[in-house]
Amino acid sequence: MPHVTPEVDWAAVHAEALGVLREYLRIDTTNPPGDEAKAARFLGGLIEAEGIPVEYVEIDPGREAVYARLAGDGSKRPFMLSNHLDVVPVEAAYWTKPPFEAVLENGRVYGRGAIDMKGFGVMQLMTLLTAKRLGLPLKRDLVFLGTPDEEAGSARGMGWLAEHRPDLLDVEYALNEGDSGRISGGRTVFSVAANEKFGCPLRLVSTGAGGHGSFIHTDNSMVRLARALVRLDEWERPLIFAPDTRAYVERLAEARVLEGGSEEALAASIRARRGLTPMFINTLNVTMVNAGVKRNVLPSRSEAILDCRLLPGQQPEDWRRQVEAVVDDPGIAVEFVNDPQPLAMPRTEWDTELFRAIEGSVRAAFEDAVVAPTMTIGATDNRFLRARGVVSYGFTPAVFSREENNGFHGNDEFISVDTFNAGCELTFEVVRRLCT
Ligand SMILES: [Zn+2]
Repeated sequence: MPHVTPEVDWAAVHAEALGVLREYLRIDTTNPPGDEAKAARFLGGLIEAEGIPVEYVEIDPGREAVYARLAGDGSKRPFMLSNHLDVVPVEAAYWTKPPFEAVLENGRVYGRGAIDMKGFGVMQLMTLLTAKRLGLPLKRDLVFLGTPDEEAGSARGMGWLAEHRPDLLDVEYALNEGDSGRISGGRTVFSVAANEKFGCPLRLVSTGAGGHGSFIHTDNSMVRLARALVRLDEWERPLIFAPDTRAYVERLAEARVLEGGSEEALAASIRARRGLTPMFINTLNVTMVNAGVKRNVLPSRSEAILDCRLLPGQQPEDWRRQVEAVVDDPGIAVEFVNDPQPLAMPRTEWDTELFRAIEGSVRAAFEDAVVAPTMTIGATDNRFLRARGVVSYGFTPAVFSREENNGFHGNDEFISVDTFNAGCELTFEVVRRLCT
């Protein structure tokens, strides 16, 4: 990758960044318990050393967020680089490298968090430090936020901040994890997640007559539940297109990474790819069934839990009614597992200044780049920001190999030094384009 910002001494930044990353990976922030204050203080210390004020926000003893703000001239609203400080546990028996020693071998740095997401955290940190050192003429404040607890649902992290410190999240744009660049169909494809699905678990409660296991019965709650589950499993739902997901598949088709040509061909391509289909339908999977108390007693009540993930903008109550119609059995109630009226997730725009800054940055670095908006099918901290109206994208400006992507929650997680260096440069370039 050519240097797209030649005024920076990249050799020096790369050397420093690698040292910071290795030190950071040695700080064990396995969640639970997290213990992220150690990481917050480490990153915060490096920021304070540059003369940028830092706030440590204690959420629980030993659990802190780190927040810093480099002031711009105020002519535009702030931009936030945001990352989580915690990591998921390791299954040490399956690792061939020690997970918290940051072993550097054959151009790779091994360690839990290298990919998810301490690597991107350090790219963000180096961007902040480099912007300060260069005296980058910022039109907007550049905010850095490291949060605890993302890997356990964010209740003691971004979720807490959204509720108790919304002042820290008052920004126009934000960048966090989600998707990234990768090689696909011979092209370098950068997928920028503008939206994500949201969970809406449902419970089916089937009630029947009960009775003795030796009689003939026609009203067994478990049998009725089983029939309903089969109907739901066979339920064919149409693909739902939104502006961002349509742009995603159309751009991939234009670049010949996906077969397109006609509406039918596009739909067939989507249905043929199990990884792609959930971006276009609300998913539904039965994950728990509970019925029966004894071998010779007919169950009067049988329950199933459905893990449902809805597309942004979908209304939970509409979805519940659709499921009820497919179940089509007055003896089976369809209920929300959580809040009776969970909030729908609003859609976030993708055609924005931030998107264009990303597009311009990666195109300057990769001639063959395909840049497309996308949607993550799992949850990230972005959802708390989007719910507040922040245009928050899930995107690491780096090209991860398939092997590197396997590191997400996997064994022998690593990031190659080349990937990491390019990521540092691209993250800086996005900020330069968006903020100056
Ligand atoms: Zn993560």
